[in-house]
Amino acid sequence: MSKKIVLITGASSGIGAATARRLAASGHQVVLGARRTDRLAALAAAIRDDGGAAEYAALDVTSPDSVEAFVQAAHRRHGRIDVLVNNAGVMPLSRLDALRVEEWNQMIDVNLRGVLHGIAAVLPLMRAQRSGHVINVSSTLGHDVVPNSAVYSATKFAVRALAEGLRKEQQDIRVTVVSPSFTESELNTLGGDPDTMAWVRTMADKLNMPAGTVADAIAYAIEQPASIDVSEIVVRPLAEA
Ligand code: NDP
Repeated sequence: MSKKIVLITGASSGIGAATARRLAASGHQVVLGARRTDRLAALAAAIRDDGGAAEYAALDVTSPDSVEAFVQAAHRRHGRIDVLVNNAGVMPLSRLDALRVEEWNQMIDVNLRGVLHGIAAVLPLMRAQRSGHVINVSSTLGHDVVPNSAVYSATKFAVRALAEGLRKEQQDIRVTVVSPSFTESELNTLGGDPDTMAWVRTMADKLNMPAGTVADAIAYAIEQPASIDVSEIVVRPLAEA
């Protein structure tokens, strides 16, 4: 397996952090991005202590300039970008009639615009390389809509649509969607309708998969031969099925 340069957004906790650890343990160079750089510094140091190759930079995926700077700096250091994992996300769930418009916009900015900013930053580089791999982290709520998930689901359906379009337009770039269900992380700790989020935390306590399970799915897609595109992996706890 050749060493790949892998950029991971939202690497400061949960699935992104687990993915960084998993890929670094397989010998890949991971480039970690998020807003909480103290977390990223600690994670990069822990990966290096374990013999892996990790570096980090501040990243706000809602800003096209921030994403462009993150990608360009990694490209200057390594001369190529092999994989972008569009993982950063937020999930303040609520009913539409609660009209939590600011949180709707936050989900659209992070979960949807953030992914588009990532694609915009890597696409010219990957086209010039005539190779690359974009991985979008969607959700089982990107396949299904439940009460309280309409806006979150809309962003996660959209992320799958973007992947589908990118795959159909680009012959040299691999595109993967990873759609997890309940996974151990900090996702259900911020925002949303308090009763809904309390219910989500109760379900999560019963059902959560380790974040490493999703990291393994991402690694599986990356580690296939270059001629193989793993289009989508859906991972859910058996108890939920
Ligand atoms: P966490 O809350 O643990 O991680 C979310 C990450 O996104 C953090 O590292 C956070 O970093 C980052 N982030 C949030 N806003 C921004 C921003 N503006 N710019 C850059 N980074 C940002 O949750 P998960 O690990 O669970 O989430 C990862 C992905 O998995 C998300 O896309 C989520 O929707 C998806 N998912 C998760 C499921 C679950 O049950 N956990 C199920 C299905 C999908 P920081 O705050 O430091 O910027």
